[in-house]
Amino acid sequence: MSKARALSGIQPTSGSFHLGNYLGAVRQWVELQDSHDTYYCVVDLHSLTSGVDPVKLRESTLASVAQLIALGIDPEKSTLFIQSHVHAHNQLGWVMECLTGFGEASRMTQFKDKSAKSGSDRTVVGLFTYPMLMAADILLYQPQYVPVGEDQRQHIELARDLAIRFNSSYKDIFKVPEGYILKAGAKIYDLQDPTSKMSKSAESASGLIELLDSSTANTKKIKSATTDAGREVKFDSANKPGISNLLTIHSALSGRSIAELEVEFDGKGYGDFKGAVAEVVTSHLDPIRERTNELLQDKGELTRLLKIGAEKAAAVADETVRLAYDALGLIPRG
Ligand code: ATP
Ligand code: MG
Repeated sequence: MSKARALSGIQPTSGSFHLGNYLGAVRQWVELQDSHDTYYCVVDLHSLTSGVDPVKLRESTLASVAQLIALGIDPEKSTLFIQSHVHAHNQLGWVMECLTGFGEASRMTQFKDKSAKSGSDRTVVGLFTYPMLMAADILLYQPQYVPVGEDQRQHIELARDLAIRFNSSYKDIFKVPEGYILKAGAKIYDLQDPTSKMSKSAESASGLIELLDSSTANTKKIKSATTDAGREVKFDSANKPGISNLLTIHSALSGRSIAELEVEFDGKGYGDFKGAVAEVVTSHLDPIRERTNELLQDKGELTRLLKIGAEKAAAVADETVRLAYDALGLIPRG
């Protein structure tokens, strides 16, 4: 029997992924490689929604690919590619925009959050239509599962709705995908503002644990993470969001339960606890950073791998576009 397909993507908005990307998403991507037919994509077109610098975008796109490989994505097992290399994403993206209601798009909370931060004059239309391009990114590959962090739940729901809408209005072309979201640890929060999610496009990097940052810098950030005025290391996301976030991070990396950690740090105070979190984080990230830097020494090899990935991805995606265009009544070029 052929393996079920899984697909997901990550933006190259900044040079480094953060711990939320790893724990919420990429770690699951690695695990799925053996049991699923996996497609993973660096969604560079999505990064244009936040007005990137071309030199930085080039660098961060390759750095994203290198980080994925360093984190365990194996280009022999997975189809690893860059979104802009496969034109079908834009072709189906437009179709998805024409299926989405304006009110429906306006309800996307990520758009509301991000546009509220930058103000409506600096918010581009692409940020508004990003969930429709994302629906195309997904539906092109007919995946059964889409492994993402909790923050993407609403966008996955939209992709499902659009697939169902297309199938019932035109022809049964799209598989209706399911989100694959962890129950625990699927959302990591900003260290400085522990009620907002850790995000690459955050105004300041002071609350992000970046995979490629030095151990010293990450240790400093963890030690100055916002906590409450109490002394107890206890999980209580309503009253102690900072400590709860650090407990989630420690537990996700060390594999120890939150209850166990609460017992270990009972009576020890925040300083000791933060030191232990920093230790767990840096010991995990050191080898990943080193491997990423090694991979970035050979850009020719990364480019070669990406070409193979793009060809494999395009073969699947082009066929889906052909079927969808035909169902819509668009005449093939002949
Ligand atoms: P941006 O701010 O540019 O949107 P991002 O940090 O949200 O960047 P994405 O590239 O949008 O990162 O998301 C890649 C994957 O990481 C997605 O599956 C997303 O759900 C997951 N992810 C992002 N932030 C977090 C977080 N704080 N906790 C858990 N998962 C996260
Ligand atoms: Mg995001």
